[in-house]
Amino acid sequence: MKYLLVKTRLLTVTVVGVGVLVLPAPANAAATADLTESVSTAALAKPGVERSGAAPVVETTRQVSGTWAFGSTTVPLSAAAHGTPQSSLFVAHKVDGRWVTALSGSTDFVDLVGRAPAGLVSDSERKLFTENQVNAQEIPADTGLSLPWPTGVAWYMGGGPHGNSAAVPPFSSIDFNGGDGRVLSAGPGKVYKSCVRNGSGLVKVVHPNGYSTTYYHMTDLTTLADGADVQVGTYLGKTGNGLPCGGSSSGAHVHFSLLHGDSHIGVGGRTIGGWTFTEGDTPYRGQAEHDGRRVRPGGRLVNYGATTPPGPPPVLPTSTVDAGQNAAVNLREGPGSRYRVVGQVTSGTVVRVTCSARGSRVRGIRGSTTLWDKLDSGQWISDGFVVGPPAPACPR
Ligand SMILES: [Zn+2]
Repeated sequence: MKYLLVKTRLLTVTVVGVGVLVLPAPANAAATADLTESVSTAALAKPGVERSGAAPVVETTRQVSGTWAFGSTTVPLSAAAHGTPQSSLFVAHKVDGRWVTALSGSTDFVDLVGRAPAGLVSDSERKLFTENQVNAQEIPADTGLSLPWPTGVAWYMGGGPHGNSAAVPPFSSIDFNGGDGRVLSAGPGKVYKSCVRNGSGLVKVVHPNGYSTTYYHMTDLTTLADGADVQVGTYLGKTGNGLPCGGSSSGAHVHFSLLHGDSHIGVGGRTIGGWTFTEGDTPYRGQAEHDGRRVRPGGRLVNYGATTPPGPPPVLPTSTVDAGQNAAVNLREGPGSRYRVVGQVTSGTVVRVTCSARGSRVRGIRGSTTLWDKLDSGQWISDGFVVGPPAPACPR
């Protein structure tokens, strides 16, 4: 019971923490003009940016003490271009009256995020941005990503690999439509929206494995807040014809783009959802291949899901065994005293708990409990003798 109480309190603290962290930008932020100019300049200086002549959109979503800002900046596309507007996250710091801006995908960004106050960027975002930047140094051709719809379902590849203004490489984007139109995250990470207007917007997911993906033209966007965690398969929006930040579209689809760190990268030679894509000599051509089967634009691709684990396995927090008055605590084959004893641990042993489940009642050091912890070794121990952070429920 005490254990549960602790768990609930932790949960509450976390939720409150998030609420405090995501500060809406004050409408009358004094330095906005300078900040906008600093961010706009950085956005237009980004290599490979498609300049339409339109001023970059600067969306500041968080500010701390008037000297730190976080948000996104997007360079709108011209109406003639079919593509993804170039969008970056930014972090900015005001030093000696001047704003210094760093855009996502650069070491400057990771450095500045590392120095930002806790209220501007959460610990988990800091960790994700660092992992993404470090892993982007060497990314495998198998992206470890799924295609952006349910596994086992076929959608149309309406347009093969193409660039941001179609003919200009890198051919980082593919057009998809089909099924129920529900577009799902290609992998785990955190979601960010920019250019949100008229029910559409540009959705970006930053993945820990060094890739990022963007999703354009969608409607009915996810209501998840910027920086919220997504998993592979998390709903992001519906296929549509939305043009919230320029471009063009004929026929509801999702313009799905692959980024390396935060720079667009050609999909040629890369595997997504079990399909390895080849770029054509001209945009929208090319093909996808799975197990010797080739599909050209206009054909349908079954999503085989993510083919390799995306990124390194999570590092489990450590817990410590406290046997109380006992010499040792039994490890069991399952979550209960009726399961076979498969080992013993003494006080002070460091263990890693993967998940917890209900089992037989045991009198532990904090009273009696029916909670059992599954260790990374596969063995089980009564939670009554484990001191450490709460673990998620085991899948049934
Ligand atoms: Zn497209």
